Amino acid sequence: MLVSVDDYREAILAGLEALDPITLPLADSHGCVLAEDVVSQWPLPSFDNSSMDGYAVMVGDVSSASEASPVTLTVIDDVPAGSRADVALRPGCAVRIMTGAPIPSGTDCIVPVEVTDAGTESVEIREQASRGSYIRRAGEDVIVGDVVVRSGTLLSSRQLAVIAAVGKGHLLVYPRPRVAVLSTGSELVEPGTPLSKGMISDSNSFLLVSAANEAGAQAYRVPPVPDDAEAFTAAISDQLHRADLILTSGGVSMGAYDTVKEVFSSYGTVEFTKVAMHPGMPQGHGVVGESDDERIPVITLPGNPVSSYISFQNFVRPAINKLRGLGSTDRPRLAAEVTKPLDSPQSKRQFARGRFLDDGRVEPVGGGQGSHVIGGLAQADCLIVIPEGVAHVNAGDTVDVVDLRGDVG
Ligand code: AMP
Ligand code: MG
Repeated sequence: MLVSVDDYREAILAGLEALDPITLPLADSHGCVLAEDVVSQWPLPSFDNSSMDGYAVMVGDVSSASEASPVTLTVIDDVPAGSRADVALRPGCAVRIMTGAPIPSGTDCIVPVEVTDAGTESVEIREQASRGSYIRRAGEDVIVGDVVVRSGTLLSSRQLAVIAAVGKGHLLVYPRPRVAVLSTGSELVEPGTPLSKGMISDSNSFLLVSAANEAGAQAYRVPPVPDDAEAFTAAISDQLHRADLILTSGGVSMGAYDTVKEVFSSYGTVEFTKVAMHPGMPQGHGVVGESDDERIPVITLPGNPVSSYISFQNFVRPAINKLRGLGSTDRPRLAAEVTKPLDSPQSKRQFARGRFLDDGRVEPVGGGQGSHVIGGLAQADCLIVIPEGVAHVNAGDTVDVVDLRGDVG
């Protein structure tokens, strides 16, 4: 009996909760999810200040100013940004002022330096000005007590800026989940090693570590483990004290030497399931640990690289999102016209690899849709989803597409 993609994802998510929040310095919080509301302790701007380099004046003193007949005012002071002096403007006078500097008392408006002769003793003003112009008022952006960023927000540069502006140096955030990635297979060697008979380079761990990091985790790679129960058990047990989530690849199908399946049949509470999707049917998830309070979630992915990737997108990415305190964050989906026909197993949801053309249509890529076609995966920037019950789509049909662009910034 096959389990649907959606039910299987729900089953994985039901067993997970967000990690405990921690306090981090502001600079280290980038890409984390905020676990508190950030409230402003002062207004933004915090004081009335100039939005231009220019002159603080009274409107009445410059009401007759024009290019043909400028008004001359005496410059009585100079106020740079950061000035602490209490400066008072007097009628008939001007104060030279820089962008961001506090407004002298008695000022009605700022005249930009561009419409003056830029004088330092006296200044010629060549344009009228209206009351309030080029003055940024205290609190016009944020007032005291405003929530500037809400709990649950994924922190990007834009939010870090306002948090810094309201003077908060440390934040309560959900940590990035530590994800251990462990490839299994006696055929695996390190990339860079020449291939001897029957050997292949371990590509899955690189795929999964980078995909997990793209999803906001702090992932790391454990060297490949051969198909040996003792070695695999030792490698898992080694990760229990450092990982928030363990991902394995390989060893979960129906063959002999499917070590992951064999070991987890008696170690931890991992259940193996056949999911109605292609590629990526054999799946497993559960928890492992050596005591009751040490229950580390494990997701066992199939070994074929494309299966591993599709499984990652469907199951692991949502799991990482939940651990890092994010709500529902599916990858963007859109409808697009497909350029070539595609076949799909009727009883399964197929995730075919595709690529966007400039005109918005989507072209299937790779030499076929086999789960080993890793060259095709590299050409893809989207997944074409062919739902259960559909065995064929024609060229020109509109299909549902998962947009994979924007993984790396
Ligand atoms: P398995 O799920 O272990 O039966 O593996 C299925 C297929 O995926 C086999 O052809 C494996 O050689 C291949 N495979 C398994 N693990 C990896 C890996 N880490 N990198 C690349 N290919 C792999
Ligand atoms: Mg294997």
